Amino acid sequence: MATNENLQTPRVSVAFIGSECYPFVKTGGLGDVMYALPRALTKQNCDVKVILPRYHIIAQKYQEKMIYKGSFSMNLCADGREYYVGIMEMEMDGVVYDFIDNDDFFSWGNPYTDLVTDIPKYCYFDKAALAALNFLDWIPDIIHCHDWQAGLIPVYLRTVFAGTPVGRAKSMITIHNLRFQGIYNIPTIRYWSNLPGWVFEYGMLKHGWEDANMFKGGLTFADSITTVSNTYAGEIQTEFYGEGLDAHLRYHAGKLHGIVNGIDVDIWNSRTDKLLAENYSEKDVLKKKKANKKALQERLGLEVDDGKILIGLVSRLTNQKGLDLVSSIFPELIDGNTQVVILGTGDAQYEDAFRYYENVNKGTVSAYIAYDESLAHLIYAGADALLVPSLFEPCGLTQLIAMRYGTIPIVRETGGLKDTVLPYNEYTDTGNGFTFDRYEAGLLLDAIIRAKTVYFTERDRWNEIVVRDMEKDVSWDQSASQYRDLYLQLRG
Ligand code: ADP
Repeated sequence: MATNENLQTPRVSVAFIGSECYPFVKTGGLGDVMYALPRALTKQNCDVKVILPRYHIIAQKYQEKMIYKGSFSMNLCADGREYYVGIMEMEMDGVVYDFIDNDDFFSWGNPYTDLVTDIPKYCYFDKAALAALNFLDWIPDIIHCHDWQAGLIPVYLRTVFAGTPVGRAKSMITIHNLRFQGIYNIPTIRYWSNLPGWVFEYGMLKHGWEDANMFKGGLTFADSITTVSNTYAGEIQTEFYGEGLDAHLRYHAGKLHGIVNGIDVDIWNSRTDKLLAENYSEKDVLKKKKANKKALQERLGLEVDDGKILIGLVSRLTNQKGLDLVSSIFPELIDGNTQVVILGTGDAQYEDAFRYYENVNKGTVSAYIAYDESLAHLIYAGADALLVPSLFEPCGLTQLIAMRYGTIPIVRETGGLKDTVLPYNEYTDTGNGFTFDRYEAGLLLDAIIRAKTVYFTERDRWNEIVVRDMEKDVSWDQSASQYRDLYLQLRG
């Protein structure tokens, strides 16, 4: 509910543009943010429209709710090829979703396939999204773009669309993950985007000797850049984390801000979550979490034993996520008192390593190689601790969800993990989890051993952390109001 105080402040209109959004299509944290942040903003006197591709893989139950709002033809490529742009609309909880419809680009496969397909797809999407705003005559104060797939929007806004109504809007681009940038040779991106030649110069889209970089273009032309935690905002200006754009980001540091992500506390709510064996709050977590642990052990064929510490990991299985560290200490993890549950899909080397560890530790280790929302919920509720030892982590949502479910995170101090998980301090009895700093397997093992020591020898203290974590504010409220303040500053 909007409070009176909020209603007295000016209303701001924002168009969110990005490539995925829960519940329509989600491959990672971007999908969560595209869902939860607009909802949080509508509670703070913002008008929000979310513009997405109408992928064929969006479930039928949502496709059926979409209403045709109109269509037009748009020239895209350098040779003037025309493409159909359809606009399908639906509303959900005060947020309007407009889906850009075009079978040439969105009718097959996953949202992301390979750059040969994705570069034309998102050139089309970026231009069509702006053209759709003009077509609908809905000119927002702010156009808020997300990741490289929406990278050309700030560029289009200040070039091809500069003299059109939508050109009045200010633009913000959010870096959810700098690793992916949409880099391809200049002639291809120039052909598909039909942007003027001068934007392919150094300091703008040009990357290296002969490539163009869509994300870099967005960072250059956007009026404001945000990223999803304060620490990551600093890290990406260094060579190690900068993915080749650190100098560019240092140059644009004046318009770069870090705002930490939250989670949707209605979806991630242990009191009401229907996917749990038993619901609980911070008042009865110590009793009722056990039922979820038992259900998880049963579901995965682990030995049903409340006396073991159950450590979970829910993650894309890629090298970003610190899995080299996990697989190298795996043998030392298994000590007769520990169970490990891994849920994820990704690179074959990690999938195979974890399958192997499951095979040699039947009943103690489960490697569930899949994307499975319902199992994820049960792991967050049933595990005692959750591992997030990432090499880099812009924000990370799994540690936030874990804390909300009274599951203690064990994390590396990087990016948003550092900003959201305060290290446990046994002397002051403060902190939310167990942390380590350098990317070294021995340090991860040490953090796990510290966690196990508290779990097995000082259970009262462990339980205090559980309750403290559940009480921590991981909602979007504060961060949404920071975004709102930035929107107001930008609008001027
Ligand atoms: P990233 O965006 O880098 O993948 P985040 O921590 O920001 O990482 O977000 C991950 C999101 O995806 C969380 O909501 C997490 O629960 C979910 N997730 C990751 N892997 C799986 C999986 N195998 N099954 C179900 N949910 C998953």
